[in-house]
Amino acid sequence: MSRTIVLASRNVKKTHEVAELLAPAGFTVVPVSQFPDVPEVEEDGDTFAANAAKKATQVAVALGQWVIGEDSGLLVDALDGAPGVYSARYSGPDATDDENNAKLIEDLAGVPLERRGAGYVCSVALSNPAGEVKVAIEGTCRGRILSEARGSGGFGYDPYFLIREFHRTFGELSPLVKQKLSHRARAFSGFIPLLLKIADDFQGQPSSSTSVQR
Ligand code: IMP
Repeated sequence: MSRTIVLASRNVKKTHEVAELLAPAGFTVVPVSQFPDVPEVEEDGDTFAANAAKKATQVAVALGQWVIGEDSGLLVDALDGAPGVYSARYSGPDATDDENNAKLIEDLAGVPLERRGAGYVCSVALSNPAGEVKVAIEGTCRGRILSEARGSGGFGYDPYFLIREFHRTFGELSPLVKQKLSHRARAFSGFIPLLLKIADDFQGQPSSSTSVQR
């Protein structure tokens, strides 16, 4: 039996990754873009968790349904955690991945490889139709930022994000590997059992909330 759940994201490649992660658990992901009347959520939180909760709760209330919110990004050690929550608009509003990558590489010019450590973070929140967060969980993935792109897989900063154990970037590694190792994979591996636990209660009111750091 497949159940549907709305994801409060308009990022097509991210939505595809989330859909692939949730499919084995029996969930079909419906992106919020399928509901043109739902207003855009302003991502003005200071943390990934705050933005994930805001996306989930606002869309859940607008639709009167359970909704998953996901907010993610890149924190670079040598840039004091930038771009962080500004990852999607690092080089300005409506920035493309290429523009953000160009700014990142420019900002890291002259920084040697051993000081180019970085981490992806993925925060996931599940809201009930009343706009209450019932699950909040985070996943992280460490790597290094190269100065030249390698590979064309994934999205965003992936062609520059080196997974040291594999000597490959997420742009070079197969989607199957990214789906095992990434910040998103780690967040959802913790999220899915909690989602399944309350999914049977979707028509009712789950009683408690859960917050986990992974
Ligand atoms: P959000 O849609 O507001 O959460 O923004 C996420 C942004 O973080 C994306 O636009 C990318 O720049 C970056 N990002 C998040 N996850 C990934 C990933 O898995 N690969 C590459 N970039 C990512």
